[in-house]
Amino acid sequence: MPRELRIQLPDDIWAALSARSQSSGQSVGSLVKAALAEALDIAHRSMFQVSTSSAVVHGVYEGCVSIAELRRHGDLGLGTFDDLDGEMIVLDGRCYQARADGSVREVADDVLTPFATVVAFVPHATHRLSDVASWADLARQLDGLRTSDNDILAYRMTGDITSMVARAPCRHASGTDIVTATADQAVFTFTAPSGTLLGFWSPEYAEQLAIAGYHLHFLSDDRRSGGHVLDLAASRLDVEVQVVSDIHVVLPDTEGFLRTDLGGSVAEALDVAEHERSDR
Ligand SMILES: [Zn+2]
Repeated sequence: MPRELRIQLPDDIWAALSARSQSSGQSVGSLVKAALAEALDIAHRSMFQVSTSSAVVHGVYEGCVSIAELRRHGDLGLGTFDDLDGEMIVLDGRCYQARADGSVREVADDVLTPFATVVAFVPHATHRLSDVASWADLARQLDGLRTSDNDILAYRMTGDITSMVARAPCRHASGTDIVTATADQAVFTFTAPSGTLLGFWSPEYAEQLAIAGYHLHFLSDDRRSGGHVLDLAASRLDVEVQVVSDIHVVLPDTEGFLRTDLGGSVAEALDVAEHERSDR
């Protein structure tokens, strides 16, 4: 759980903090957290990933890293579970599973994940978006804020979401390719859901490793609903963003990972599996 810290600051530090907050749009609290993490050598800009997107595309769904281990490396992120059993949401250091039956539960530390990405989230900037009409519009607005096409970014967003479509895959045995495995996914429609969006933007060059483009999962404030976001509209979104500067990837030692042919482009399959609704 986050701890509250109250300290007295000298005038000059306070003035510099205020000035930086004004110029960056970042809260004083976020700036202090980032400065402390830097000073204490906490690798807050690192991303920790289990397996690769190409392995998921090819149906490698055998869990290999525990949730306990995942939580040691980050407090915000997403992924899936053994046999593609739903969507993972890691928020404020706690791990949740959104399943195809619409249920959400907190996950025990000994559960295994076959694919997940987390960061110790320390945003470097905040932005406010208005009148987000759709997923495509969200991508367009976020694209306008990105300063590079080659960085990986982590996001956390809250605000007034007016509608959202999210999905969770049904459980499928390892070896079922992602397009087949998501063809019978459950799709949920939410009206004015109150909750948090989180996830990543990854560049095209990283498509074998990460899911290129925007990849967001949602968890409601009451922790009762969530999933992988397919579409949304929002009158306002407050976006916190963090640049990832290095990546730690765990290559699974499972039979599935070691024996599967992971060659070939996965962009088309990921596009279908990650962005399409179930009406195909
Ligand atoms: Zn997802």
